[in-house]
Amino acid sequence: MDNIVVVGNGIAGTTAATTLREHGYRGRLTIIGAEKHAPYSRPALSKSALHETGAGDTIVSHLLPAADHEARILLGVAATGLDLAKRRLTLSDGGTCDFDGLVIASGIRPRKLRPDLPHEKTFRNIEDAQCVRVLLRSKPRVAVIGAGVLGMELASACAAGGSRVSVICRGKPMQASLGSYLAELISGAAMRHGVKLVPSQALDVRDSVHEHGACDVVLADGSTVTADLVLTAIGDVPNTEWLASAGLLTDGELRVDSRGRLAPGVVAAGDVAAIPGRNGYSRVPLWMTAIAQAKVAAQALLFGDAAPPLDHEPYFWTDQFGLAIKVCGPLPVTGAPEYMTGMPDAEPALMRWHNGGGAGTGVSVNCRMPIAKLRALARQSPLLAQATGDLVQG
Ligand SMILES: Cc1cc2nc3c(=O)[nH]c(=O)nc-3n(C[C@H](O)[C@H](O)[C@H](O)COP(=O)(O)OP(=O)(O)OC[C@H]3O[C@@H](n4cnc5c(N)ncnc54)[C@H](O)[C@@H]3O)c2cc1C
Repeated sequence: MDNIVVVGNGIAGTTAATTLREHGYRGRLTIIGAEKHAPYSRPALSKSALHETGAGDTIVSHLLPAADHEARILLGVAATGLDLAKRRLTLSDGGTCDFDGLVIASGIRPRKLRPDLPHEKTFRNIEDAQCVRVLLRSKPRVAVIGAGVLGMELASACAAGGSRVSVICRGKPMQASLGSYLAELISGAAMRHGVKLVPSQALDVRDSVHEHGACDVVLADGSTVTADLVLTAIGDVPNTEWLASAGLLTDGELRVDSRGRLAPGVVAAGDVAAIPGRNGYSRVPLWMTAIAQAKVAAQALLFGDAAPPLDHEPYFWTDQFGLAIKVCGPLPVTGAPEYMTGMPDAEPALMRWHNGGGAGTGVSVNCRMPIAKLRALARQSPLLAQATGDLVQG
């Protein structure tokens, strides 16, 4: 293999390129990225970037150190089609790009409530963050639709900036992903920060019938929430349209094996890829998972079965409403945790759920703890975990 092309210039694409070089690949390497930017930290966009105090519209918290893979990088160019038999990509600039190895890392994009609602804003890239940051200066009333991690981080940032915020959510915030115990913790913090939780489903967003320049979010019971800014965070859609006729999709998903492989010489990694797990295939749109997948997929491209399979225990973090939460291990968790440090309704806190079979889940809240330690804590037996908690406390 001496001509590898990576589609997608996010963290998965750039990690795959770096990993190829680290494992001795010296052939041609090209990265095709639809965005005009060098890879950046998306997680920073809904956290520190929205709180940046610089006077201009430019943000900096998301910047990452330059990669050293020495790939040829085409920015602002998208892959528009793939002919697998010819090993050829067609590109949005009218050109083509041949390859003998392909890494698919084209990520996802936010789902909108309606494709054509001008008032509805979604949040995924630098431009979205810059736009929202500027809009927040006038302290608009904000309606956030969806209470997953992104929706709640946006609600937190808007509330911290002095906006009145309503979050429209069908269940408790983040309940589906984290479980009810942590959802309760987050809801309480959100309400203490003045956020109004509206338990309903948003059906539509339209010009307000009462206030010129504002908009109404129409709820399932016919009532409305009036806001100056509507941020929708109701999930995502994988960027796979360019693969429509390539024969790589199964039921619309890009299902990879445990090494990220899709076809001979073709791998996928990051948010776009559906990976095999305990309950079938699923996409795991998390930063550290994207990195782990990309490392595995790049090695599989070079070494095939001799490459290690994906062995990654999910890890994620979120900052919202004064809570810095880190989670290692399976989610959602059920029931109440064992407290290693702290106690309910107080921080710092270090908790552990024993999920049975040794696969525990460790959660830290406002606790300085390296990921490796939290991961070890999640895996430990209850007694050892208690000892670790005592050490952290002491
Ligand atoms: C605001 C925000 C906050 C987040 N916070 C957290 C967090 O706190 N913790 C956490 O674990 N995760 C978080 N995430 C998720 C995390 O950022 C993602 O899991 C990660 O960025 C995925 O990387 P990726 O490279 O797979 O995809 P992406 O970052 O989406 O990169 C894919 C790239 O491919 C480009 N592309 C798409 N189609 C094409 C094409 N046809 N041709 C060429 N290029 C194409 C896209 O434009 C994009 O630049 C957050 C995400 C967002 C949006």
